[in-house]
Amino acid sequence: MSDDRAFTDQSYKAFLSEKQLMGTRCNDCEVLFVPPRGLCPTCHGDNLNWEQASGQGRLVAMTQMAMVSPDLAAEGYGGGRPYCIGVVELHEGPRVVARLDQGKPDARADLEIGQDLQVEFEHLDRHKPRLVFRPA
Ligand SMILES: [Zn+2]
Repeated sequence: MSDDRAFTDQSYKAFLSEKQLMGTRCNDCEVLFVPPRGLCPTCHGDNLNWEQASGQGRLVAMTQMAMVSPDLAAEGYGGGRPYCIGVVELHEGPRVVARLDQGKPDARADLEIGQDLQVEFEHLDRHKPRLVFRPA
């Protein structure tokens, strides 16, 4: 994909607000980074391009927090509704940390390590877009 946006966190969030999970791929060693990096930590080169990830992956780790920050408490998370996060290995290889959700108060209840997940995007209207993964 051709896009001339800077390889910054701000550009990454702008893509998320457009419902695109974007990373940067190093053209020299072909490694993909999600979230994007402006310099390749493998070969230290800056020959990178934007690349869209499919948003499909599998769950490799998860945990939940019953004690949450004030902003998450304002969203209703806490002891009665734990905030569940996981590490998802995208089909393209990179691992991302994101909220897990399956529409129940305890998001871990039916999720299993190795399960296929699909990304969705939330908080698009709050200028703080973030990833959430749900069962595929
Ligand atoms: Zn590289």
